[in-house]
Amino acid sequence: MINQDDLEAFGYYNIPPTTDNSDATFLEDYCKFVEGMVLTYGRDRLAENTLGLVGEAGEVAEKVKKFFRDGTLDEAAIQLELGDVTFYLAALHNVLGLDFSETIQRNKDKLIKRKMNNTLRGSGDNR
Ligand SMILES: [Mg+2]
Repeated sequence: MINQDDLEAFGYYNIPPTTDNSDATFLEDYCKFVEGMVLTYGRDRLAENTLGLVGEAGEVAEKVKKFFRDGTLDEAAIQLELGDVTFYLAALHNVLGLDFSETIQRNKDKLIKRKMNNTLRGSGDNR
């Protein structure tokens, strides 16, 4: 995991510090809330949560499409759909036994590494 010392060694100071415990607690509470709302179990749940995530991401894309087609951007509607995306992200973390906060931290670490290596652009998971 990249820490503040690494960032300072690279002279990169504009990245916020690692997620603090209050953020982790907020996400844990949200994941528990989501768990109480899930309606499916087992394999059906894995499929429903995955398809739900893709479907809700599609609803975000649909709203953005309308911006390009009609010239109107409904940020409030997009925010609601992003909430639905977040719900399914949390549900998937729950069903897979993954820690949502850890996922976010790992993603931050990956992107910081790419930024420091000047590989934000390009392709491949391991750049
Ligand atoms: Mg929706």
